[in-house]
Amino acid sequence: MVNIPGIGAAAGIAIARAFIMQQAALTVEKKNGLEAEGELARLAQALDRARGEVNTLKEKTLERLGAEKAEIFEAHLLVLNDPELIGPVEEKIRTEQVNAEYALQEVASEFITMFENMKSPYLRERAADMRDVTRRVLAHLLGVRITDLAAIDEEVILVAEDLTPSDTAQLNRTYVKGFTTNIGGRTSHSAIMAPSLEIPAVVGTKSVMEQVQDGDLLILDGIGGVVIRDPDEETLELYRRKGQEYEAQRAEWAKLKHEPTATADGHHVELAANIGTPADVAGVLDNGGEAVGLYRTEFLYMGRDKMPSEKEQFQAYKAVLEKMEGKPVVVRTLDIGGDKELPYLELPKEMNPFLGYRAVRLCLDRQDIFRTQLRALLRASVYGELRIMFPMIATLDEFRQSKALLLEERAKLQAEGIEVAESIQLGIMVEIPSTAVLADQFAKEVDFFSIGTNDLIQYTMAADRMNERVSYLYQPYNPSILRLVKMVIDAAHKEGRWVGMCGEMAGDRNAIPILVGLGLDEFSMSASSILPARSLIAKLRLEDARKLASEALECGTAQEVLELVSAAVGSLQ
Ligand code: PEP
Ligand code: MG
Repeated sequence: MVNIPGIGAAAGIAIARAFIMQQAALTVEKKNGLEAEGELARLAQALDRARGEVNTLKEKTLERLGAEKAEIFEAHLLVLNDPELIGPVEEKIRTEQVNAEYALQEVASEFITMFENMKSPYLRERAADMRDVTRRVLAHLLGVRITDLAAIDEEVILVAEDLTPSDTAQLNRTYVKGFTTNIGGRTSHSAIMAPSLEIPAVVGTKSVMEQVQDGDLLILDGIGGVVIRDPDEETLELYRRKGQEYEAQRAEWAKLKHEPTATADGHHVELAANIGTPADVAGVLDNGGEAVGLYRTEFLYMGRDKMPSEKEQFQAYKAVLEKMEGKPVVVRTLDIGGDKELPYLELPKEMNPFLGYRAVRLCLDRQDIFRTQLRALLRASVYGELRIMFPMIATLDEFRQSKALLLEERAKLQAEGIEVAESIQLGIMVEIPSTAVLADQFAKEVDFFSIGTNDLIQYTMAADRMNERVSYLYQPYNPSILRLVKMVIDAAHKEGRWVGMCGEMAGDRNAIPILVGLGLDEFSMSASSILPARSLIAKLRLEDARKLASEALECGTAQEVLELVSAAVGSLQ
């Protein structure tokens, strides 16, 4: 029995024999002295066929998995029609008189290397699009058939180096019980596609292709993120049971999709989702999200070489508001800096970027950037229930200045005759300890708080959230963090304001009972955590949660809190 750890990309348990996906070798040789016209015609024909195939895949995906997933193939079509790629390939064929496959491979690999070296994980993953499309065109040029995954007709777990979006779209769920790959991270396309395929997946194992052979018996645990080869009878039995339990749980969660969120004794809270792009809204609604509690607008600014225009931003905000059909949407203004860089801003390197020129600090300085975003938001405000939130607020002055700029832009728009929503709630992220401590003063001026525990923990514990070596200090359950959270909630409620939380802690099943007990009003988390959280909350009683919270506040260490809450959560199962 061998354990092969990886990243759980889609929950669930599968037990079946391995089917190893061998990538057809696409060996390209350079041929010189060829007639350019002939090669250009071959290239055009291969591109045409590839477009035809991608169109079919796009339609199939649209039908089976929905518009959001089909967008991946839209991106492939853009690559297939991109003059910046095709132009240089044709140029190479003409000037060097080489074969089309050689010219394509040379030019595409330059692009792929360029994408792979980009800082942003999102852009690095785009190298996969380029690789997928290039393989498809090369296969046509070389007359090689790419593995037909749709033809698998017995129950298997698919094992592959990586799965391209084209591969995942072809998988037949009746037979493919799960998949696992060597490469891929949390933002890889195979990981993004996996949950909607509704089969478990473990990606990024680094070695599953080397450790597994065709026909080996595998357990794939998409919850724990592990693949087990040649399991013994006892392990098999354990995972069969786990699989059944998970399926039963899923069925129970699904029933809660349209239910309000409340404790067993009727205390209501709101379960919202964190999103990064308008395309994420489908997942929010699919998982019964009651609101968007954090729309990270940074992604609009990343992966490009200049600022998004007011119009582009307006369209994105409007799309989210419209798709949410009147449910609240908290949009956070630009939170760039720290681990998120914008190369085109050409900011000097800093010794401590997390303590540096970032988020609202940058926006108040670069008012051109900030005002454009505020105008776009104000213009979109008439399309739904918009709430605006400023990140990294450390002082009351920063909030007042941000609000003043917003009011100025509002007045300008109104003078231009552009319609703006009557009232827009204005809030701040509480992610800097100074703001948590002074929450009573902030509460007099803001409409709401959203506690950003990802940063609040790093600043309170003085432990860089990206630094593995100090990750032991990253302690959501530390009583110091719980006391700060309590201070913020109490201060807000005293002034009649609501408090949300949009850091990872909000979706943590061990933290949820304490947060309910502390009186948190809104929990914003990844969409896939919503239904499990609703189910957990429905089993709590407010009085018990309050008692648990007050006991947790009196603990000395994070470990003590965890033990306390694990016992309480365990007894609810
Ligand atoms: C946070 O700090 O908790 C938060 C939600 O913001 P981000 O993770 O984008 O810094
Ligand atoms: Mg933050």
